[in-house]
Formats: sequence, C-alpha cells, structure tokens
Amino acid sequence: MLLRMSTLFLRTLREDPADAEVPSHKLLVRAGYVRRVAPGIYSWLPLGKIVLENVARVVREEMNRIGGQEVLFPALLPREYYEATGRWTEYGDTLFRLKDRKGSDYLLGPTHEEMFTDMVKGEYSSYKDYPVTLYQIQTKYRDEARPRAGILRGREFVMKDSYSFDLDDDGLKHSYEQHREAYIRIFDRLGIDYRICFAMSGAMGGSASEEFLAPCPTGEDTFVACHNCGYAANAEAVTTPAPPTVTAEQPALRVLDTPDTPTIESLVEYVNEHHGLGITAADTLKNIVVKVRTPGSDKAEVLVIGVPGDREVDFKRLEAALTPGVPEIFEAEDFVRNPGLVRGYIGPQVLASLGLTYLVDPRVVAGSAWITGANEPGKHAAHVVAGRDFQPAGTIDVAEIRAGDSCPRCAHPLSIDRGIEIGHIFQLGRKYADAAGLDALGPDGKPIRVTMGSYGVGVSRAVAVMVEQRHDALGVAWPREIAPADVHIVGTGKENQIEVATQIAEELEARGLRVLVDDRPGVSPGVKFKDSELLGMPTVLIVGRGLAQGVVELRDRATGVKEEIPLAEAVERVFAACRA
Ligand code: ATP
Ligand code: MG
Repeated sequence: MLLRMSTLFLRTLREDPADAEVPSHKLLVRAGYVRRVAPGIYSWLPLGKIVLENVARVVREEMNRIGGQEVLFPALLPREYYEATGRWTEYGDTLFRLKDRKGSDYLLGPTHEEMFTDMVKGEYSSYKDYPVTLYQIQTKYRDEARPRAGILRGREFVMKDSYSFDLDDDGLKHSYEQHREAYIRIFDRLGIDYRICFAMSGAMGGSASEEFLAPCPTGEDTFVACHNCGYAANAEAVTTPAPPTVTAEQPALRVLDTPDTPTIESLVEYVNEHHGLGITAADTLKNIVVKVRTPGSDKAEVLVIGVPGDREVDFKRLEAALTPGVPEIFEAEDFVRNPGLVRGYIGPQVLASLGLTYLVDPRVVAGSAWITGANEPGKHAAHVVAGRDFQPAGTIDVAEIRAGDSCPRCAHPLSIDRGIEIGHIFQLGRKYADAAGLDALGPDGKPIRVTMGSYGVGVSRAVAVMVEQRHDALGVAWPREIAPADVHIVGTGKENQIEVATQIAEELEARGLRVLVDDRPGVSPGVKFKDSELLGMPTVLIVGRGLAQGVVELRDRATGVKEEIPLAEAVERVFAACRA
C-alpha cells in the first residue's frame, strides 16, 4: 500500500473543533480521520477508515481463533423480536424507533441478542449441533443521552458483538473464558492499557460479567482496584459490606429544634453547637427523593433513599440499580404535590404512613441510630433507630464509592480511577433462550434449554481510546498494527527531495510495507513536519536538507528519538524499524 499525500483525500486542521473536549475528539478531527455529521454521528475519511478496518481485522482474527463464525445482521429490525423479550419497551429512550410506509414499527439495533437467538433456533435442532459461537462486526444505534467526545460515545458506532450457545453451565463458562482470553489478546494487540473489572455482583455470581476498562482521565466509568488482593470492579458493581446489626438498647427518639439547617453541613454544625452533640456527617441519615419512571409508561413512582449524610448518591450507581427503571430528579413541583415530604427535613419515620417506598444504604443496619429529619421545617430527630422508628423496605447500594473504602474481598483500602469501557463479557444464561424457546433435542429425546453468553467490543470506540492513551501535544502516536501506514516519508523542499522520498516509498512498498509519502509540492517543511506529528505514523523518514550531504532523518513518533542516517541505508533501516 502506498498513499501519496499529493492526491490523498485529506485536509488537516490547525484549530481544535469548537465542540471538542477530549484529546481523541480534537485530534481525530484535526488529523482528518473523522468528520462530524450530527451529535454522536461521524463519517470516516480515508485514513480513518483504514484505522477502523485495522481494528476490525485484529478483532476478527482473534474471534476466529476461538472458533467464532462471522455473520452479519441488518441494523434495521422489526419490532416483534424485541417485543418478545420486553426490550422494545425496556430499552427506553435509548432505542431508535421508526415506522415503515405501512406504519409497522421498526428499530435500529442497539445490540442483537434476540436476532442471534432466533437465527440459531432456525438452523439448529440437535444437541450434537452445539456449542456454537457467532459474531458480527456491525453498526449499532443508540440514542445516547449524552453523546460526547466524538466517537467515544456515538449514537451510531461500530461494535463487535458475539454470542455463545451452550448446552450447560460448564459449556457457558468455557465459552466465557475463551472470550476473555480473546479480549486480552485483542486489547494487547491494540496496545491499549486496560483493567478487567467485575461488572455485576450479587445474584449474578462473581465472574458472570466483566468489563474491560481503559484507564483514562476522560473516562465516564469509575472503577475501584485493590492493590492487596487484585480485586477490580466498576463502581456500579461494588458492594458495600453491611456492618453487624446493633443490639444495644438505644435512647428514645428525641426531636431537636434545628432552625435553618436544610443541609447536612448546617445540621452538624448546629447540633454540635446548640445541643452539645459531637457528631459528624456520617452520624446523620440523609434522605434523597427520586422519581422512578418505568420505560413505556408515563407513571413515575416516588422512591426515598436513605444514605449516611457524609455520602452523596452516585447517579450512575443509582441508574444501574434501578434499571430498567429510570431515575429522575424530584423537582420543586413534586414537593408541592407531596406535602408530607418536607424539603430539607425529611425523616423516614413518616414514609410508611405516606405510602412511599424507602430503601436504605447497607450501612443502615437494624438497630443503628441516626440523626435525621423530623418532617417539620427547622426540626430534626436524634436516636432514630432502624427497625424501631422506621422499617426500610430493603437496601439499595447506590452511595458514592470513595478512595480508601474497604475492599469487599479483603478489606484493604480501595483506589479509584476513571476508565472507558472498551469491552464487556457477560454470561447471559437462559433469559433470551427462554424468551425464544431455544431448545436442543437431547440424546434422550428430551429438550435442553440452551444457555448463552454475550460479548461486545467497541470497535470504533477503541480507535478513540488508542488516541486518548497514545497522544502528545502534537498529535497521535498509533500502535504499528493499527496505524494507517507503517512509515510516513516526508519529502521537503525541492523537487529532488520529493523525488527521492517517492523512490524510497516505492521501494518500501515493494518490500511489503504500508507507506504514506508526503510528496506535496509547494508545501512548507514546517507544515509537513506538523502533519507527520499530527497524523501519527509510528516511523517517520525525513528526506530534507540533509539530502545534499547524503543523509536523511529517521524518527520514532512514540519515543521522539531522531537519528541521521546515510541515504544509502534508508530503505534497510526503515524496513528494520517497521519490522522490529
Ligand atoms: P457504556 O456503559 O459505555 O454505555 P454499555 O455498557 O452500554 O457501554 P455494551 O452494551 O456492553 O456497552 O456494549 C459493548 C461495547 O460497545 C462497550 O463495551 C463499548 O466498548 C461499546 N459501546 C457501547 N456504547 C457505545 C457508544 N455509544 N459509542 C461507542 N461505543 C459504544
Ligand atoms: Mg451504554
């Protein structure tokens, strides 16, 4: 492959796009890899398309290596498949829904569990047919609430999704392990730094679901890590260990005058000063009201959540805990409609009589005593005891996780970082097989319900993640396997230099390298150097002023190391650098 910049469909930009906040968005647009069409919707230009295909090739090779077979589904799908599993409704506002000319409902596929299940059901019948793993690399559509950061979170994006079909739990575990290993190889080859994090907890079992998160300051996911036992988990999946229940007798509930203390901070300060208490925010019980909307209905239920006053409710943990329900802010007018809820002074004592559901943080154990609202303006109550003065309907683990919190496995302090989800592996079990009635006929003539796994890689997102992790102030530094070319040969100045640069490029192409040559006449050396840094090929060869003395310059984009080498050795040296 030889790309000539004199004819390449490429225009680089000197300015960052106005709507770009993160480095990958700025650089991919400036370097002419992608162009925005609408929020979260991007076109790929020639160099970008090569990068995207290179990522897809790596993913394909590793999926094939574990025996995956590639198929391709349409993105435009009829409602009925998603109706059968409830996802037509449950997917909520994230699903792109549309109608055809006859008025029939369609959707643009956000993920394809239903379709794969149906396909396997149509083709396979006997236990002898299984196991099987199918995958596709295809465009997905999700009307994301917060499309941001360019192709990191698109509304249209490319995903590899695969699905395993097994006859029993051991088979599913094996398929899951194979995917896990394939993902490790994929992300290693992409040169991405990542952590494998638990993504689900409790009922699903320890290893049922893991996310591959790329640590990155711009990431939207928060994950914890324990440097003692190696535990790592998405913050959404972290479980808070419940302290032991309190059996000691507690003093009777006492109402305190606390004028003008609608915040935890003002409350703590007031009661310590005026009531002689020595409390901290952690001794108070903060009650947060949210509305929970069920997708597909206009009805929103009121939910009150009790958390220790030194912690906020983490909205992403809340979203994950309530899914498919969608939490919404409880607005001023909602307070007007619920006069029993006294803003700033809510206590759980009255919630049952108001008919409201009350869920508490796992730290609010039976017998524990709290300072909380007294449901009257300017009043709080002390010695409000869980199980005595109020009865929570259950627990909800949605308080923020902090660095230093105890590891749920070994109790060591956890560290916290941000990351971007690049892959997700998930033991689905029989949910979709149940909905579709996917059975294999067993050796004894009895049906066996098939069990499934689902596994995703963000192919287009991976392109952005590589840039997030591999860039400097000047531009991108692609890993070689993914770069649009192995080497960028820059001919500066006079025609002679461009001619020599082109000759070297042709020789290297003949030896099997993928080459980009800057053969643009009349473009200044400064502009060409800047473009080579912005575009980010791993190896750069400058054919410039030194040519008169028979030397050219070899540069390594990632390390910045530059070396003058004799022209006669240029082909050999570049070849060696690219095949190292
Ligand atoms: P996120 O939490 O980031 O929205 P998700 O949990 O919705 O991701 P999955 O449904 O598991 O993601 O999709 C599989 C993979 O597809 C993800 O690991 C991610 O790499 C990629 N992906 C998901 N949503 C997007 C998007 N809007 N844009 C680009 N890639 C995405
Ligand atoms: Mg998502």
